[in-house]
Amino acid sequence: MQSLTRDQLQSVVNEIDRATEKHQSWYESLLRVLICHLPPQENDLAVDAEQRCLFGQWCNSPDAGLIIEHETFKALARAHKNMHDSCRMLLEHMIQRQMIPVELLDSFTAELADMRVQFESLRHEFSERISNLDPLTGANTRAGLMAILNKEHSLSVRGYPSASILMIDLDYFKSVNDTYGHSVGDKVLVSTVESIQKTLRPYDSLYRLGGEEFLVCLPSTDMEQASIIAERIRESISTTHIKLEQNKQSIRVTASLGVASLCPERNVVDSIELADKAMYLAKQEGRDLVKVA
Ligand code: GH3
Ligand code: MG
Ligand code: MG
Repeated sequence: MQSLTRDQLQSVVNEIDRATEKHQSWYESLLRVLICHLPPQENDLAVDAEQRCLFGQWCNSPDAGLIIEHETFKALARAHKNMHDSCRMLLEHMIQRQMIPVELLDSFTAELADMRVQFESLRHEFSERISNLDPLTGANTRAGLMAILNKEHSLSVRGYPSASILMIDLDYFKSVNDTYGHSVGDKVLVSTVESIQKTLRPYDSLYRLGGEEFLVCLPSTDMEQASIIAERIRESISTTHIKLEQNKQSIRVTASLGVASLCPERNVVDSIELADKAMYLAKQEGRDLVKVA
């Protein structure tokens, strides 16, 4: 899935909370309609009822567009539609003064429970992602890194195209701190992450390993493509002017990058080490450089 910012992830979590709450009050009104034979809501009888509730409307908004291809979201959308479909059938029975078959009520109850489980699982997944974001830069922390790299590696062992990894380390970053202070150093880190992020594709992921060191995972990317992406990142970092608020001065920083493949022939740790070695070679050869393992 596209790498989402903290704000985007948080807005999805907020929407899930809102949808959970709204569906609970919707369910309570539905029970009143069914048990006390009150007039049903027109929206609940519509064939596209699942698009008319507040959550359904949100599903068609640009915010939801960010996660529409996400598997957990697809499962949730299916569960939500099934539940509204069953609800409509219940209401149709009631309007036609027919007894509601117990199987229909049971399947509605099961679909409602399934929908709640799906809401909970999407919420859990996204909350966890938020907690795995570095508070300063919004890049992923290393918490989920090995799991992702191991997954990419096992895909390549099974014959799928290998991923590549980039090791990125800012050059002479200590002297940025020493010259301009730690808060400017922090600003440089934030700017570096922005420079990297805007160069990446939606399915690439960026991790802050610590300090001024980052790792990028590029799924299904051979070394040639990876070197092109690394070069773009190098250029993007080195051409960005980072404004210093106090005196309207701006500074620029550079980075050294190492590229390695997560190929099936060696394990993930060895590939990371190779990318690291390539990065150190770039340092030795003068910095502001990309080196391929
Ligand atoms: P090189 O070109 O060889 O990589 O030199 P360097 O100065 O970038 O590397 P070095 O490892 O000597 O210094 C890294 C510095 O990064 C030292 C540390 O104080 C600073 N640093 C680490 N984390 C942070 C942070 O979160 N904020 C700031 N401002 N500085 C940090
Ligand atoms: Mg450095
Ligand atoms: Mg370093």
